[in-house]
Amino acid sequence: MKNIKPGRGPSGLNAMGSRFGIVFAIFWTIAAVSMGAPIFFAGFGVIIIIMSIVQFVYHYKNATGKNRYSEFEITDEGEETDPLNEYVRQRYGDTYADGTPRETSSGENRFCPYCGAKTGEDFEYCPKCGKKLPF
Ligand SMILES: [Zn+2]
Repeated sequence: MKNIKPGRGPSGLNAMGSRFGIVFAIFWTIAAVSMGAPIFFAGFGVIIIIMSIVQFVYHYKNATGKNRYSEFEITDEGEETDPLNEYVRQRYGDTYADGTPRETSSGENRFCPYCGAKTGEDFEYCPKCGKKLPF
C-alpha cells in the first residue's frame, strides 16, 4: 500500500483558513445571541465552531507533525478489492456493452512493484524499469 500525503504548505494554509473560520463562527454566534436571534442560529454557530476546530487540528497536525495523515491510499487489487467493481461485474457480466472484457482483479491492471509502472497481464519484465516481475 502506498499513501499520498498532503503537502505541508497547503496544510498550513488550510489550518490558517480553519482558524479564521473558528474566529468568524465565534463572532457570528455572539452576534446571533446578542441580537436575540432564535436559538437555532446560536446552535448553528456552535456547530460551525466545533467543525472548524476539528479541521484546524487536522490541518495543523499535517502541516507541522512528523506523521501526516494520508489523503489517499494506493492499494493493489490483491490487498483490497473494490466492492463497486465486484457489484458491477456480478450485475452486468464480465464484458462491457461492446463485448470487450472488463478489467479483472487478476487481469490487466498490474503494476510493477519496483517502479509502479503499469504492466500487462503477460509481461515478464517491466516495460519501464526492466526488472523481472514476480507474477
Ligand atoms: Zn518497473
